[in-house]
Amino acid sequence: MTKKYDVIVIGAGPAGMTAALYASRAELSVLMLDRGVYGGQMNNTAEIENYPGFKSILGPDLSQKMYDSSTQFGVEYGYGEVTGIDIAGNRRVVKTADDEYEAPGVVIASGSQYRKLGVPGEQEYSGRGVSYCAVCDGAFFKGETVVVVGGGDSAIQEATYLSNIAAKVIVIHRRDKLRAQKILQERAFAKDNIEFVWNSEVEEIEGNGKKVTGVKIRNNQNDNIETISADGVFIYVGILPMTAAFNDIGITDEAGWIDTNDQMETKVPGIYAVGDVRKKHLRQITTAVGDGGEAGQAIFDYVESVK
Ligand code: FAD
Repeated sequence: MTKKYDVIVIGAGPAGMTAALYASRAELSVLMLDRGVYGGQMNNTAEIENYPGFKSILGPDLSQKMYDSSTQFGVEYGYGEVTGIDIAGNRRVVKTADDEYEAPGVVIASGSQYRKLGVPGEQEYSGRGVSYCAVCDGAFFKGETVVVVGGGDSAIQEATYLSNIAAKVIVIHRRDKLRAQKILQERAFAKDNIEFVWNSEVEEIEGNGKKVTGVKIRNNQNDNIETISADGVFIYVGILPMTAAFNDIGITDEAGWIDTNDQMETKVPGIYAVGDVRKKHLRQITTAVGDGGEAGQAIFDYVESVK
């Protein structure tokens, strides 16, 4: 039997939890589904120093606090990997492998995932020198040497950001020129503490068992191997939206990101998108909760209008 709600939230990261909080506090019945544990990417974050209200907080602790506050007005939390949404008039049916749930309003908060290099040491030293987010972790490397892997817009933008914090930034790129926009390249080239290592690929991230000590790289022109000493490794080889389940309802762009208006509503009335899954500039916890608040409030008006 299909269970009915006013709102279904897909994803229980900071964006989804905030949307669920706002919608349930407005007395809507809300189901929040996640394919894993609530908290989303916050669970993979050791220390968070840029979420207002806390000088520093562990990711899993912030997840628990957000979960406790977001479910206080009766949000039902359920396990399930959403595989698609069927749309018929004002009805939206959210499907998982085993169940179907129906609601007039749906909030997609399924987040994104950083593309991994897939080399030895990457997983082992994740959070112990390996990072995918300079805004999140750059401050931990004040006065130290960091490597940035990649040559696109994000890599070069973040290398420039890190050059104001770290003593030295070494950009490792597998080609002999950058893909980043010209203006970003010029800013990076103008920094005297950014070095570039061309035609080189990371083979391994090395460490001492506790933290990163450097990267082993291979020159793809002459196969020379060398080790570069570094305290941190920032990897920017792509970020992927978690939107495979929503590609067939016409709300994603060619790269899979979801476009919304400023109330977080997609092209399909009643379907909202919040957090990292949106086409946006800054993917952070603060921006995720901001999106969640907007959507949770806007969906109240939508649901009332079609009830
Ligand atoms: P997510 O947190 O990604 O949550 C999405 C949720 O949706 C997940 O729980 C996932 O299981 C679920 N989901 C996905 N697909 C489905 C599906 N089909 N069905 C059901 N559930 C689904 N930001 C900061 O502000 N400060 C930091 O210090 C910081 N450090 C970070 C460190 C690391 C290592 C990483 C990876 C990120 C960090 N970030 C930090 C970024 C921040 O965590 C994200 O911007 C934020 O979590 C995005 O929130 P979200 O709710 O949009 O998505």
